[in-house]
Amino acid sequence: MLGSGGREHALAWKLAQSPRLTKLYAAPGNPGIAEHAEMVALDPASPEAVLAFVRAAAIGLVVVGPEAPLVAGVGDLLRANGVLVFGPDAAAAQLEGSKGFTKDLCARENIPTAGYARFTDAEAAKAALPGFGLPVVIKADGLAAGKGVVIAQDTAEAEAAIADMFDGGFGDAGAEVVIEQFLTGEEASFFAITDGKSVVPFGSAQDHKRVGEGDTGPNTGGMGAYSPARVLTPELEARAMAEIVEPTVRAMAAAGTPYSGVLYAGLMLTESGPQLIEYNARFGDPECQVLMMRLEDDLLDLLLKVAEGRLGETAPPRLADTVALTVVMAAKGYPGTPKKGGTITGIAAADAGGAKVFHAGTADKDGAIVANGGRVLNVTATGASVAEAQAAAYRAVDAIDFPSGFCRRDIGWREVAREAE
Ligand code: ATP
Repeated sequence: MLGSGGREHALAWKLAQSPRLTKLYAAPGNPGIAEHAEMVALDPASPEAVLAFVRAAAIGLVVVGPEAPLVAGVGDLLRANGVLVFGPDAAAAQLEGSKGFTKDLCARENIPTAGYARFTDAEAAKAALPGFGLPVVIKADGLAAGKGVVIAQDTAEAEAAIADMFDGGFGDAGAEVVIEQFLTGEEASFFAITDGKSVVPFGSAQDHKRVGEGDTGPNTGGMGAYSPARVLTPELEARAMAEIVEPTVRAMAAAGTPYSGVLYAGLMLTESGPQLIEYNARFGDPECQVLMMRLEDDLLDLLLKVAEGRLGETAPPRLADTVALTVVMAAKGYPGTPKKGGTITGIAAADAGGAKVFHAGTADKDGAIVANGGRVLNVTATGASVAEAQAAAYRAVDAIDFPSGFCRRDIGWREVAREAE
């Protein structure tokens, strides 16, 4: 398995439950993953380094957690050498790697998404602004770790964002800019797995991107999440499959670049139905953690079926009818410069209470667990409702002593309020 975050700890934890697993390696891994896997020090985004290790250790299946190895072509090189991989080739990972690519595909296939135009120079982009109304969404085309999107409230802000992107404010990601109409609605994340031919739903989630309570303050990689997203009703989920995900999988196959892996659709639930905001070519982090808590099937079996192109032979994945909720404990300073090295105790006590603590940015220092990144722990629990799962997760958070860390105390607030209605 490639990766080192909370998402990968959740995948490793679930893979380790499979009776079919003989041996798990993780590159580069983390101290939580180390409970289930042997750590391998290699660059997961180097296709050659990954292939060399896979050959040396005679690995049967490679599971790719993050997007960087996918976009770097790890999937391509492994497949070309006959290795089974869970995760798309680089051409298919463009669904995440290039916003313009995805928008063009949506336009060709009549997939509901915000109106848009692509630009390679600032003057043309600025000249097009009046056609979009306000607010307007300005995006750097490439991967910018969630930071390449500006929702501009007025034309001056939009022009400044365009100028910044073309001036290299987002590196190569900003060589092309996409302007989009602003969509109104509630956001939900919807997951599907596909082997390029068959595609089946893999649950839904909602996350909290802002660092502050009440969804305020700067954006982060995600401060918490819960699954399922009840706003994505069975009817809306069926529409998202039929109108968005299935046509995408068909179009990718028809183009000769079949998409294999998990397809994560960021949806806006508008008055006229679900619209695609973006695709990700991997599980979300921390959404993966809550999905794994609910998955009732053998994950290894499922990922193998996808990698082998035999998904059509198996029953769709089953997710428990419970709610899972995860709270991210971050190091103070995040999403700016996080304070590293802070000691953490009480993880075992939190786990013993029925929660599951996934390691995201931790390190093992002489046998003690210390903070080693922005997002440090994902404290995850289940319950019959979001309120119950939330209470269980915060009981576990309170069992953990992490003086140089912090977390939001309101993960799931919107859903808890709806449940109370
Ligand atoms: P991330 O990977 O962090 O989700 P990203 O850089 O891939 O972000 P998007 O997901 O495309 O970018 O956009 C980030 C956020 O901006 C969305 O989650 C949504 O809140 C908002 N957003 C994007 N496009 C639109 C739109 N057309 N209308 C309204 N809001 C939008």
